[in-house]
Amino acid sequence: MEKVLVLVHLDENGALPKSALEVVNAAISFGSPMAIGIVGDKVQSAADSLASTGARIIAVEGAEFAQPRYVTDAAAAEALCHAAEATIVIAPQTSRFSRALPGVAHRLGGAIETHVTSVTPGEIPSVTRWFYRQRIEGTLQRTSRPWILLLESGTTTAYQGADGNAQVERISVSVPSIRTNVTGIRAPQVGEQTIRPDAKLLFVAGAGWTKKQSDGQPHVAEAEKLIKGMLKHSGASLGSSKSLVDQSSENQAVLTFLTHMNQVGQTGATPRHPKGLSTCCHGEEPHVVGWRFINERRAINLDANCGWARGKADVVYVADAFAVVEKLIALIEKKAVSGQLSAIS
Ligand SMILES: Cc1cc2nc3c(=O)[nH]c(=O)nc-3n(C[C@H](O)[C@H](O)[C@H](O)COP(=O)(O)OP(=O)(O)OC[C@H]3O[C@@H](n4cnc5c(N)ncnc54)[C@H](O)[C@@H]3O)c2cc1C
Repeated sequence: MEKVLVLVHLDENGALPKSALEVVNAAISFGSPMAIGIVGDKVQSAADSLASTGARIIAVEGAEFAQPRYVTDAAAAEALCHAAEATIVIAPQTSRFSRALPGVAHRLGGAIETHVTSVTPGEIPSVTRWFYRQRIEGTLQRTSRPWILLLESGTTTAYQGADGNAQVERISVSVPSIRTNVTGIRAPQVGEQTIRPDAKLLFVAGAGWTKKQSDGQPHVAEAEKLIKGMLKHSGASLGSSKSLVDQSSENQAVLTFLTHMNQVGQTGATPRHPKGLSTCCHGEEPHVVGWRFINERRAINLDANCGWARGKADVVYVADAFAVVEKLIALIEKKAVSGQLSAIS
């Protein structure tokens, strides 16, 4: 029988990220003896939040293990895999584990799968995973052990259980020589965070926002103000078409807060949100393939014959996005003032 280890790390606030709780749920559905390994500075409160899983809880704890850093993360993960004698290790596909765990699999003589979307128990367990940037989903099994599985976020629900008093077994690790110290984070967006994976709404801005409007002039500054206002008031995550983010390299007037990180589509991201609102974007196939996990789709376009109108959106508003978004912000503000709105729905 497989021995499953759930491997998680704390985030920069010392808490368990949502993706860690999703992995816990995926492992519970596996039904095998389970241990949970936690890496972080102070792990007790995270361990207490997992006490009701009934799993054995082991941890590598200490200030050196708070920062994302290959040597310390790999040393901690390796020690936890040994302590749990794990044959299957399930971990969230965070940037931190994506970097450290392939090396751990090599050290342990095992194998690793990235971009895993589901795990299925059985005599020989199987997993589904994406290949080629989410264009192909494959099902596979391996006999190499330990088999480390990096689970994509959003593919399963997050674990919710009552807090308890967890007995944590601290595993001692001799701290390897450290050359890297994280002194700060330089994110692509300066200022406001626009990519919000947990948002209920994906708000997509297309190149139309920077095009000449009915008065023959572009209104980029106004577009920037409206898009930022929409994000602020709705809590939406910002996506973009390729044409819009490409403009910065073509010396055209641009929306300053957009980067290629926002790009949705065939050569961009495939975010997961319950709803999506596309604005000033034509809805061409290479863009719309990035919407495959958006359940309910709406678009605002001046062109009644745009791509969205050809079966790619549930609702298309043939209208001027400048006017609609301005009105939308005013409505959200009004509802927020009268206390009728907690989050966009
Ligand atoms: C190999 C390949 C890969 C690609 N990968 C991607 C990808 O990953 N992501 C991606 O997005 N694209 C991708 N593309 C490009 C894609 O085909 C389109 O060119 C691109 O998505 C168009 O961007 P857009 O809709 O923002 O701009 P446009 O095509 O210029 O459309 C602008 C739209 O704005 C509307 N508009 C203008 N003003 C207003 C207004 N006031 N109110 C409402 N509507 C208005 C116009 O009617 C128009 O429909 C790829 C192309 C190729 C060949």
